[in-house]
Amino acid sequence: MTLPPHIAERRAQMLTRFGNAAHRFARAGFATTPPEALASREATCRACPEWDATALNATGRCRKCGCSTWAKLRMATERCPLGKWEAVEVSSLKSPVSSFSPPSATPAPPRESLPSAPLLT
Ligand code: SF4
Repeated sequence: MTLPPHIAERRAQMLTRFGNAAHRFARAGFATTPPEALASREATCRACPEWDATALNATGRCRKCGCSTWAKLRMATERCPLGKWEAVEVSSLKSPVSSFSPPSATPAPPRESLPSAPLLT
């Protein structure tokens, strides 16, 4: 199946933006956004008409750039395409690398709290 040219072009642009964002993020040592800046970014996106709260399993997508807002907000090197928030100055961060777990990731329960399976005989 071949995509219509305008859709293929749009997807190619999104892939290019994603690649550039991943490259910036990696070059900055995978620096994540500090909690205060993350809260501010989130509040701005939630109030923005370009934010699609239901996209990507309700983790959100920016309609302007097509990015996952969940990831975009957490990457210190990212900025809003409309200039509503800016990249964090990575050199100002105390520890550039912190946790970057996907939203659905939950820690595994301790082994002793797992239900025991009946023994087969
Ligand atoms: S990144 Fe900017 S344009 Fe996109 S949803 Fe957030 S505030 Fe709006």
